[in-house]
Amino acid sequence: MIATLTEDCTLAQKAAILRFIEGYGLRVHVGEAGSTTVVSVIGDYEPGMAESIGALVGVASVSIEAPLYPFVAREARNAPTMVRVKDVVVGGPEVVIIAGPCSVESEGQIDRIAAGVAHHGAVLLRGGAFKPRTSPYSFQGMGEEGLQLLAAAREATGLGVVSECVAPEDVPLLNRYVDMLQVGSRNMQNFRLLSAVGEQPKPVLLKRGLMSTIEELLLAAEYIVGSGNPRVILCERGIRSFDTATRGILDISAVPVLKERTHLPVIIDPSHAAGRRSLVPSLAAAGVAAGADGLIIEVHDRPEEALSDGPQSLTLEGFGETMNTVSAIGNALGRSLATL
Ligand code: PEP
Ligand code: MN
Repeated sequence: MIATLTEDCTLAQKAAILRFIEGYGLRVHVGEAGSTTVVSVIGDYEPGMAESIGALVGVASVSIEAPLYPFVAREARNAPTMVRVKDVVVGGPEVVIIAGPCSVESEGQIDRIAAGVAHHGAVLLRGGAFKPRTSPYSFQGMGEEGLQLLAAAREATGLGVVSECVAPEDVPLLNRYVDMLQVGSRNMQNFRLLSAVGEQPKPVLLKRGLMSTIEELLLAAEYIVGSGNPRVILCERGIRSFDTATRGILDISAVPVLKERTHLPVIIDPSHAAGRRSLVPSLAAAGVAAGADGLIIEVHDRPEEALSDGPQSLTLEGFGETMNTVSAIGNALGRSLATL
């Protein structure tokens, strides 16, 4: 149920309306859209509730059509959400480039790649320490040692670090080391994990499930924001379809669709969508052209030796060239790449 307040509703009237609703054990989410204030009522309520709320002073109208995702819907805020990750803002005018290996593999590897991507203009470093692998026999990540190496790379380069959390019980550990926690595709509907990352304050990079609709992605984000953490960045990373020519199908329309439906920032992962290095620059360019707030790109200094996702990882040189392309596209649209 949504109650729209009158334009001349006073602060005292608004407070009384919220007290009334909360008095029935319901939760409220107050959104501002222009001069309109919208109160979303969350929870199970009696049929007569809508009339009771509609009769309160300061309420203009009540619609019983429940918003699916009141916290993350575009209407919930009158401005886009900007998410600060260490020294960088995602969702503002600048395009943010996150880069790094699929997995942290060794001290030398992460240090070389961190220095390389920073040199070419990346502002955040990615690197998996806990890897969700399809096969139990594939490299599963270095665990806490990988997080320590990421933290050391942050000290050396100034880049904020992003790493995936695969289990609710690991959230405090990730929180100690990283600047942003990633929830991967395979865990987009791990609802206990979503709540757990929502109960801590660091930003969350939420990747779209490989078989998930945009609505399901928004509902997953709703779990996080509804648990208390508004710092969510959405990521389109390719969905599964019938064509095997690419690893995934990059749903480029997800960018404008999400921009219509939510105030949260949206980034593109061209690497997992492509599955092959040669395709990554085109998909990265398309992401920026479509209006994404950033990109997350896999880069490895020796992709042929990578322990995961080598075939889709750009070399450092390839990353430098891709940066030139996406920078030119950003400039054509009046957006520059974020710098440190
Ligand atoms: C990754 O970022 O390396 C990863 C596993 O991504 P996804 O969850 O999109 O497959
Ligand atoms: Mn990967």
